[in-house]
Amino acid sequence: MEVLVTRHVFPQAIELLRPHALVDYHDASDGLPAAELQQRTHGKHALLCQLTDAISAEVMDAAGDQLKVIANVAVGYDNVDMATATQLGILVTNTPGVLTESTADLTFALLLAVARRVPEAERYLRDGRWQQWKIDMLCGHDVHARTLGIVGLGRIGQAVARRAAGFGMEVLYHSRNRQAADRERELGATAVSLDELLARSDFVSLHVPSTDETRYMIGAEQLAAMKETAFLINTARGAIVDEGALASALQEGQIAGAGLDVFENEPEVEPRLSKLSNVVLLPHVGSASIATRTRMCTMAAENIVAALGNQRPPNLVNPDALPAQP
Ligand code: NAP
Repeated sequence: MEVLVTRHVFPQAIELLRPHALVDYHDASDGLPAAELQQRTHGKHALLCQLTDAISAEVMDAAGDQLKVIANVAVGYDNVDMATATQLGILVTNTPGVLTESTADLTFALLLAVARRVPEAERYLRDGRWQQWKIDMLCGHDVHARTLGIVGLGRIGQAVARRAAGFGMEVLYHSRNRQAADRERELGATAVSLDELLARSDFVSLHVPSTDETRYMIGAEQLAAMKETAFLINTARGAIVDEGALASALQEGQIAGAGLDVFENEPEVEPRLSKLSNVVLLPHVGSASIATRTRMCTMAAENIVAALGNQRPPNLVNPDALPAQP
């Protein structure tokens, strides 16, 4: 059995794979160019890849019929052509759960940073501009006791709701399916329409996956429906927000600010956003704690080991790709 690891991972993942397969390890942070990715995939039984690798129909085609499993080191798998994988009977796995709490922590870090102007205040000090304390110096907006609107109340959305309770926030949510009444009570979260959530929230935080349905879920119309004093937080995926419309809304003062960890065309960032002081920008570090990223890598490796051993991988996202049971 042969496995391609498309870019640098935490070493524990390689150690897990080695007893089970020959590992072709591209141990570099730069991804493989498309042609080389196709060439290196040829003949492999498994791919261990990351959200920055576009696993297209061409890549799967180049691999050959023996390709069994694509293990993505992320909970989102919008970088994989899922329809083709399922049609070809290739199993696709992700890394859910292990990154929930770390991503919720980072969501709150962004929310606090933009509301209380933390990066701006730090730049002010480091630039030597702090000559004296002033009563109105770098005043921002409170977080406690404000209203938080969570879009997508799944694993991460719920973890964010639990943190909001500690800040005495009112929590509204809009999700595809409503949670059971006891879960809503436990989270202190009230289900509302997206329109109501946008109109009432002081902070709107996005936690839906990137799908055809959620593309540009937040565009000019939705931004115009938010309060002028509200903040948008996105730690989900860039394509959920129309970045151009967001930059215009921020420039025109339609909303108060934004905290963004993800972008439409990463690592590119809409240039207008980079110039605004009421926006905090992070380079997709939602799950970036050492423990979480290590666990994500080993989890992907475990999924490969299971699939190569003809077991159902624990984090299979396309069960339709499994052979039909007699
Ligand atoms: P999850 O548990 O699957 O939660 C997603 C939630 O969104 C579910 O409640 C889902 O509803 C809801 N949803 C899906 N489509 C929707 C729609 N069209 N309208 C309204 N709600 C919709 O996923 P998760 O583990 O919380 O992760 C969420 C996303 O965060 C991932 O897909 C990933 O892209 C992103 N993420 C980013 C980072 C980062 O580094 N910044 C880290 C981790 C994850 P159902 O319950 O009905 O399915």
